[in-house]
Amino acid sequence: MTTNRHDKPTKSRELQIFQYLHPRMKLATEEKQHLDYLYKGYLGELEFYNRLQQTELKNHLILYDLLLPSNHTEFQIDSLLIWQTRIFLFEVKNFEGEFYLEQDNWYVALTGKEIKNPLLQLRRSEFLLRQLLQKWGHDIPIEPYIIFIHPEFTLYQAPQNLPIILPTQLNRFLKKLHASTPVITRKQKRVVDQFIVHHKEQSAYEQLPQYEYDKLKKGIICPSCTGFLKPFTYKKMICETCGRQENIESSVMRSVKEFALLFPHRKITTSRIHEWCETIYSKKTIQKILATHLTPAGEKRYTFYLPKKEIITINNPD
Ligand SMILES: [Zn+2]
Repeated sequence: MTTNRHDKPTKSRELQIFQYLHPRMKLATEEKQHLDYLYKGYLGELEFYNRLQQTELKNHLILYDLLLPSNHTEFQIDSLLIWQTRIFLFEVKNFEGEFYLEQDNWYVALTGKEIKNPLLQLRRSEFLLRQLLQKWGHDIPIEPYIIFIHPEFTLYQAPQNLPIILPTQLNRFLKKLHASTPVITRKQKRVVDQFIVHHKEQSAYEQLPQYEYDKLKKGIICPSCTGFLKPFTYKKMICETCGRQENIESSVMRSVKEFALLFPHRKITTSRIHEWCETIYSKKTIQKILATHLTPAGEKRYTFYLPKKEIITINNPD
């Protein structure tokens, strides 16, 4: 039983860990760039999702963010639209600025720097997806597309037959798709379930920074920015940077969720979370919140708490 239905984009585990670490430690330049890259990609997927939500396609079978096994490797899919007769594979790119194509190579117009040809990744995903579908006994044709979602993306010298949708073409493309969408059948729903069942939570190719509990800055991170919260009233916290207020209970539980994802092998105890949150003075408050939201385990004197699965998989909307 999985809690993630893949009905909207979610942050990858890798992105979440990076975002939790960023305010708590100094990231190297490349690590910061990687975080920006992951976050920008996520925002692009969210934008594509929002565009689909504005059309009637939102009521059809669309899956987001799948990480699928394939022989000895894995592949990641941004979005799938599943019909009985066809599967649309969407790879969303949030590139910004001007690019040009020369033969099969892609370049940034401003600098002339070559970038990785995104069509190669699309071809790979298409190939692995076809293999997987065949393995599951489905003979459904795949129609792959790269969706360039950023309004300021321009591509020069692109041949017309490439499987790419430019920002200015997206509306028409979605309208056309919607106009020909067939009714949903039971077979389609079965295919959807198969994708969800085979989804992997953790990629073998995460590029995470090295981090240690003792060296991380403690405290409660603001849900709106990268600032830290401090006590405001006896029930509320306030952000030192942006002024956002939050009640203590949700502040603590967000921090527990961070702790559980960053340190899956450490026990969640009142003392530990008290230390992790740092700015909540009363241990009793922490203990009460943990007892409300988590399942206690262990001997009474050494009570620790087991996170329910949702705590680790809930996604923040921003
Ligand atoms: Zn803030």
